[in-house]
Formats: sequence, structure tokens, C-alpha cells
Amino acid sequence: MIYDLFVIGGGSGGVRASRLAAIEGLKVGLAEGWDIGGTCVNRGCIPKKLYSYASHFNEEVEIMNSFGWSVNQLDFDWKALVKNKKKELTRLNGIYNSLLKNAGVEVFNSWATFLSKNSIELSDGTIIKSKKFLIAVGGEPIVPNIKGSEFIITSDEAFDLESLPSSILIMGGGYIAVEFASIFNGLGVETTISVRGDKVLRGFDEECVNFLVNEMKKKGIKFIFNNSPTAISHSKVSNNKEFNVQFKNDTYQFSKVMAAIGRKPMIKNLGVDKAGIDLTSNKSIIVDDFFQTSNKKIYAIGDVIDKVQLTPVAINEAIILIKNLTKNQCSTFKYKNIPTAIFSNPNMATVGMSEESALEKFKEIDVYVSEFKPLKLTLSKSNEKVFIKLIVDCETEKVIGLHYIGNDAAEIVQGFSVAIVSGLKKRDFDNTIGIHPSSAEEIVTLREKRKKL
Ligand code: NDP
Repeated sequence: MIYDLFVIGGGSGGVRASRLAAIEGLKVGLAEGWDIGGTCVNRGCIPKKLYSYASHFNEEVEIMNSFGWSVNQLDFDWKALVKNKKKELTRLNGIYNSLLKNAGVEVFNSWATFLSKNSIELSDGTIIKSKKFLIAVGGEPIVPNIKGSEFIITSDEAFDLESLPSSILIMGGGYIAVEFASIFNGLGVETTISVRGDKVLRGFDEECVNFLVNEMKKKGIKFIFNNSPTAISHSKVSNNKEFNVQFKNDTYQFSKVMAAIGRKPMIKNLGVDKAGIDLTSNKSIIVDDFFQTSNKKIYAIGDVIDKVQLTPVAINEAIILIKNLTKNQCSTFKYKNIPTAIFSNPNMATVGMSEESALEKFKEIDVYVSEFKPLKLTLSKSNEKVFIKLIVDCETEKVIGLHYIGNDAAEIVQGFSVAIVSGLKKRDFDNTIGIHPSSAEEIVTLREKRKKL
């Protein structure tokens, strides 16, 4: 039998694409060697957010006491969290499988390898032919090539550790490093981040990143800047610090070392050479504006292409691709104003431009900032603050960037991103009445421009 579309990879992009294509009447097959749902459901966004919730509760003791509750200590059971997380992920895997089945997608629990430009082989030896293929295999964590790298864990293993380490070093300063540092720190693990450069979250608004780093330091996370481990070995020091980690001039001991230095396309055994697919220098699949690879019968979306590695982006790429293929359209994805959040503690969420990129693009900008202690914390000894930044293009008066650091940042910025994506002006924000008392009302009551330097 020849499929109309065969999808390789059952993550966020692959599942959405195959379902939509099958609903449109195409004969669709999908191969996934791991659990359906991919990184996001099984080893990424979903378990990360659950663990992030888990890590915030320990701060509630102090806050509850300030409201008159008597709570002395909360006991945390790591094994219970891991077990409950697994149960929830099994439920989600089931939902994904039934969605695919009900849409008429034939699912193969198998890895796939291209044999030629129009055929693949599954792990059990089945040969599949299809009129078109879609590669949505996603990515995998990069492990640094240093002595002792076999001791390093990545986000793939971190969710299922046998027990919580007493201390951890997290290498890298991207989303995953910052989020896991907050999770481990919140769960009581002595946490250190090491970054090769002088900042974490490169590309985000620098003032906001500095604010976030300061808040994370206040919560006890340590940062090592401009330095990277060069070797890891077993430590003779007891107190559970199992590993010696060698830096440029110093050696430190940690119970665990985790790498979060980026992710690479998962194309190792895909046979891209046999399929006639061109790659970038970092081994991402090259696609045109319509997700077509150098082999016109093969498409690619999601983390395996060199665009934006975010679940909602992969899902929207899938929607556009399948509409184009089934409805004779020529739509493209606009990789602009994509709201995003870092589920650190506190959370940071952002939409639009940083101050640095706005200054490069626009002749003149206005910047509005607000920093305050949220009402919920005013009775407690907590010194955590909320930080809000709004950036306006003076010529058009449009709000071109919003950055929020504080509780529920993602929920707040998701709502406001409609205004920014729609090109609303500062005066539209000013004309909106705030909901009082809330932290988000500050976004519509910002009146004082920051003095220009
Ligand atoms: P990122 O690309 O976000 O960050 C990589 C980090 O590792 C940077 O700080 C980088 O430093 C550093 N680094 C890179 N190479 C080396 C090296 N050889 N040695 C030391 N440090 C190095 O990667 P992540 O792994 O954190 O995340 C991968 C992707 O997953 C992200 O791009 C994001 O899109 C997605 N993601 C999204 C989440 C969300 O939406 N909340 C959550 C988690 C992941 P430098 O700045 O110097 O390059």
C-alpha cells in the first residue's frame, strides 16, 4: 500500500500534522519509536511545568504563616512526584494515541530510516512507500565533549532520577538550565549554574535577565560566569558530593552534573543522505518557506529545522503545512512576536522585542518600567519583586515589547500578546481600565517614561 503522507516522529508537530491530514481524507501513517507526544509531553514542557509547580510550594510556608496559618515544615517526597508524573504522562500518551486512531492515522511504534528518496524501513523491517513524507523527529540534548562526560545527565534523565541529589551543577544558561535550576533549588537541592559567557538567556531583554538572575540569587541559586567545566571525575570527598568538576582554575564537588547546553536535531539514524535531504552546518534540515526540503517529496517541521524550538511553533507549522497540502494554499509562518515564557522562579514571560533589539531597529523608543512587591507577599518577609517593562516605538506609538517577571507571568503575557501581535498603541493600553488589585493592572497604568540616556 502507498500512503499519501507518512509522518516520521510523533511529537507535537508530527501528531498535529498527521491528524489534520487524515481528517482531510489523506491516507496517513506515522512512525514513532518512543512514546507518542514526543519531547514536550514526555521529557519536556509538561513534566517540566509539573515539577515547576512542585518546586514553588516550599515558599508557601512562609506566606501561609504571614496570613495566620500555622505551618512549620512541608515534607517533600520526590518518588511520589515522579510516580504521579508518570501516571499523568501515561494518561496523556493514551489521549494522543486515541486522537490519532480516531482520525484514521495508522501508528507504528517504530523508528524509521530512509532507504531511498521515496521509501523508508521501520525497525521491524517493514518497508513503507508514500507519495509524501514529513520529518518531525525533533531534537535531543547535546552532551559536552569533555573528559568524564559519561557522568553527565541531561533533561532526559533529570525527571526520573532515583532520588534527589543534595547538590547539582547545571551547565548552560538557556531555558532548560534556568528552569531546572529553579526546580532543583525549590525542591531543596543546592544548585549552581555555570555559563560559558557573561550572561544567561542570551537574546532576552538584558535588564530583565539581570533582574531575574538577581531574584534567583536571592532564592539561593549560585552562578559561575565566564567558565565551563573541563573535566569531571569521581570524587573522594564524602558528604554525597560524588563528582569533582574541574573548571579553568578551580575544582568543585557536586552530587550531580547536568548539561543544558542546547539541543541538536535527532537525525542520527534517519538516513537523510539516502533521502537526498540537505542539512545546515549544525545538522538541521534545510526547508523553504513551505517546509519543503531539497527533496520535493519530503517536508520537515519542528525542532529538526533551524527555526524556533517551541511546541506551539511546531504545531502551527503543522497546521500551515497541511492546509497548504490539502487546500492548495501557499501560506507561510511569520516567525515574529512569538510569546514565550521561562518557567523559572519567578517566571519570566515576554512578547515582542527586547530593549536592545528595539534600539537597533527603531529610531526612537520609549521605555516604561515598574518594580513592586506583589500584594500577596506584603505580609510576609519575602523580598521577591515583580518587574514589568513595556517598549513603545515613538513614531507609530505601537507597543513593540512586553516583558514580565513574577508569578503567573506566562498567563499574563499570553493575554497581552494579542494586543501586541495586533499592533495596538500605548494609548490603547492607557484607555484600558485595570483590574484592581492585581499585578497585571500595572501594565495598563504605566505612565512615567524612563528618562532617555
Ligand atoms: P538554549 O539554546 O536555550 O541555551 C543553550 C545554553 O547553553 C546557552 O546559555 C549557551 O550559551 C550554552 N552553551 C551552548 N553551547 C555550549 C557549550 N559548548 N558549552 C557551554 N555552554 C554552552 O538551549 P536549551 O537546551 O536551554 O533549550 C533548547 C531549546 O528548547 C530552546 O531553544 C527553547 O526554544 C526550547 N525550550 C523552551 C522552553 C519554554 O518554552 N519554556 C523550555 C525548555 C526548552 P551562549 O549563550 O553562550 O550561547
